[in-house]
Amino acid sequence: MSQHFDAIIIGTGQAGPPLAARLAAAGMAVAIIERHKFGGTCVNTGCIPTKTLIASAYAAHVARRGAEYGFVINGDVRVDMKRIKARKDEVSGLSNKGVEEWLRGLKNCTVFQGHARFHSPRTVVVNDEILQADKIFINVGGRASVPAIPGIHDVPFLTNSSMMDVDFLPEHLVIVGGSYVGLEFGQMYRRFGSEVTIVEMGPRLIGREDEDVSEAVREILEIEGIRIRPNAKCISLAKLDSGIGVGIECDEGPPEVIGTHVLLALGRTPNTNDLDLDRAGVVTDQRGYIIVNDQLQTNVPGIWALGDCNGRGAFTHTSYNDYEIVADNLFNSGHRRVSDRIQTYALFTDPPLGRCGLTDAEIRKSGRAALAAKHPMSRVGRAVEKGETHGFIKISVDAETKHILGAAIFGTGGDEVIHVLLDVMYAKAPYTVVQHAMHIHPTVAEFLPTVLSKLEPFA
Ligand SMILES: Cc1cc2nc3c(=O)[nH]c(=O)nc-3n(C[C@H](O)[C@H](O)[C@H](O)COP(=O)(O)OP(=O)(O)OC[C@H]3O[C@@H](n4cnc5c(N)ncnc54)[C@H](O)[C@@H]3O)c2cc1C
Repeated sequence: MSQHFDAIIIGTGQAGPPLAARLAAAGMAVAIIERHKFGGTCVNTGCIPTKTLIASAYAAHVARRGAEYGFVINGDVRVDMKRIKARKDEVSGLSNKGVEEWLRGLKNCTVFQGHARFHSPRTVVVNDEILQADKIFINVGGRASVPAIPGIHDVPFLTNSSMMDVDFLPEHLVIVGGSYVGLEFGQMYRRFGSEVTIVEMGPRLIGREDEDVSEAVREILEIEGIRIRPNAKCISLAKLDSGIGVGIECDEGPPEVIGTHVLLALGRTPNTNDLDLDRAGVVTDQRGYIIVNDQLQTNVPGIWALGDCNGRGAFTHTSYNDYEIVADNLFNSGHRRVSDRIQTYALFTDPPLGRCGLTDAEIRKSGRAALAAKHPMSRVGRAVEKGETHGFIKISVDAETKHILGAAIFGTGGDEVIHVLLDVMYAKAPYTVVQHAMHIHPTVAEFLPTVLSKLEPFA
């Protein structure tokens, strides 16, 4: 016996739950399926727990700098990892519980717990139940990639998921992968008190960013005592008497790092290999990302893919924006498109990096005439007052239209201040709107007009 619904949603990440609520509120009979923890990656193993842990690490860091601010701590600042984990579990747990209770409390919505697989383009099987609907929305997210590194099966390794269970201080954490996840965990564990080495295959950290941004991030991590090993050509793992050996064969330095624990932070893999997508006829690219059009429809009419699994974004905000696009197009006959959104994200190191729009490299490639300005955080009053002067603000604008093309704010408050520029970009207004606006003193944002008054032809 099959059960009929108007819509089936697979996965309760950042797009599925709000979509379930919207469809159910419109009177549609909705089935939503979750195989593991409600709320998915962001809630359980991603943004929320990591930012909670980063807050603990920041507090410890500031406490160690007490003398600079004029207070005394009698003795060393040491962390209690069990309490740090308990705080993280509480914050993340509240969110996980909130999503589950929300979904279970929705009128017209039935929650199924189990692994969903397609049986046909209109049929999904979960446990022994057969569900049918004319509309199916896939929001299955992704997981940490575990590439076939030599020795991978011989040593225990951590991922962002298993890091959530760590309630002790690793003596020496070797992080393989120098991008967002690796850097956030790296700084956090260094501040907790671990020795940290970050191994990166590319020539520099966060390789998609401009070189000056990469370099500034590397500098602040090294100041805190994190060892960075770029150009790691051939990574391998081996169990040694003294710990875990990570073979790196870099151009410089010893060919091996020996740590007590290894965290793999080598990107994400979409959870699409065990959905039986072929039974529905839904196609993916070579890396397993579901191919979608600008409205997030797959090649099969009536099936959409939202969030990380469609490869059109890798953030909570992109997944939530996917939900908004799909819902608006369904209910408001909207014409919202993925290609209308402006790239934006943050790296939550301390200081954070807020980014929007194009990088310098992308602007150069586009060949357009641009103006740019850069301003050090050491000359931003608020940063000086807070004793957090690392980093810089840089902004590029189109020389003809005066539209903002891109910005990087690597400095205290950068994750928030970037929105001033982002919203002006969405408004398609010229940068002079920001330049002539009166901002609050003393803030980092009040310096944006100053930066914009220093624009010069793009180098
Ligand atoms: C360590 C880390 C830190 C991050 N920090 C940030 C950050 O600060 N800001 C930010 O914007 N983004 C961050 N991200 C990225 C962010 O977490 C993801 O982009 C976001 O969670 C994507 O959500 P989603 O909707 O695609 O699906 P997910 O949140 O991945 O959820 C998918 C859900 O589908 C379920 N599922 C999968 N397959 C099936 C199946 N066959 N049947 C039933 N259920 C299934 C899964 O169990 C999961 O619950 C971070 C990621 C990591 C790993």
